[in-house]
Amino acid sequence: MKPQIFDLHCDTALEMVLKEQPLKQNNLHLDLTRMEEYDGYIQVFAAFVDKKSIRVTPMEHCLSLLKKLHTEIEENKETISLIRTVQDLERVKEGKGLGAILSLEGGEALHGSLNALWMYYQLGVRLITLTWNWSNELADGIMEERGGGLTDFGKQAVAMMEELGILVDVSHLSIKGFWDVAEVTQKPFVASHSCVQALCKHPRNLSDAQIDCLVARRGGMGINFFPEFLSDDGECSIRQILSHMEYVLERGGENILGIGSDFDGVSALPQGMQGVEDIHALILGMQRFGFSQKLIEKILFDNFHRIFAESLPDARKVYAK
Ligand SMILES: [Zn+2]
Repeated sequence: MKPQIFDLHCDTALEMVLKEQPLKQNNLHLDLTRMEEYDGYIQVFAAFVDKKSIRVTPMEHCLSLLKKLHTEIEENKETISLIRTVQDLERVKEGKGLGAILSLEGGEALHGSLNALWMYYQLGVRLITLTWNWSNELADGIMEERGGGLTDFGKQAVAMMEELGILVDVSHLSIKGFWDVAEVTQKPFVASHSCVQALCKHPRNLSDAQIDCLVARRGGMGINFFPEFLSDDGECSIRQILSHMEYVLERGGENILGIGSDFDGVSALPQGMQGVEDIHALILGMQRFGFSQKLIEKILFDNFHRIFAESLPDARKVYAK
């Protein structure tokens, strides 16, 4: 079986810039040559900002990453195309080609401006992870002791994101922030790269109540491949990824579950996994765990395709806003 893949999160953009690597073929976790081994691949590429580690403003930093992504996609346009509308999404799906969706990881890139949000939308951003681990103008991240929820600006930004067709992502967000998002949003939202807290106590992982909420809202949950989020002692193999998937399935998560690999955003991967080429091994594991063909297709592609099909703007309206 050569399935289509839909991965909700990677940090390859920053690694490409830091290590001066191209997207076509590199020694990072992910490149186009290896993605082509699958029968179609849609990757959400994050422009990640940690405001404590950069020397320029968050906006300057994110713009440089988005520029890198646009340049690489343009240079490889025979292979990969940018998905900005629901029509783009369907074209890539039907052609079983490679597609890129741009995202921001860290709402500090907005600098508290709704006009900046509109600018990022025009640059093709179609998912925003509201916070990284710290606080910003939208909300507090999970590592802020204060644990604040959405600010007034955060609520305005989330409303505008839903109107434009930018998916709201709660990975890294504070617990109060998560529940504020659940209250103020109308559409499905996602935790793009988060695991199960009942199986690994890391604060970045989701509680049962949060998973149940995503199930009820028909949102999305991308299982992260980072060993520290998969097992309490950080020792793990592909088997732990499957265990986190099974747990979500047992809570009724058949229609929300997917992968949010965090490729190139993590310092380690599970044993037996070096990068995107080893999703084949994950698929084999799913088959061995007794997942049906239909369930495997839902997890690898169909669930996240459904959410973006509901969220992305229509091409006929995209420039009218
Ligand atoms: Zn992250």
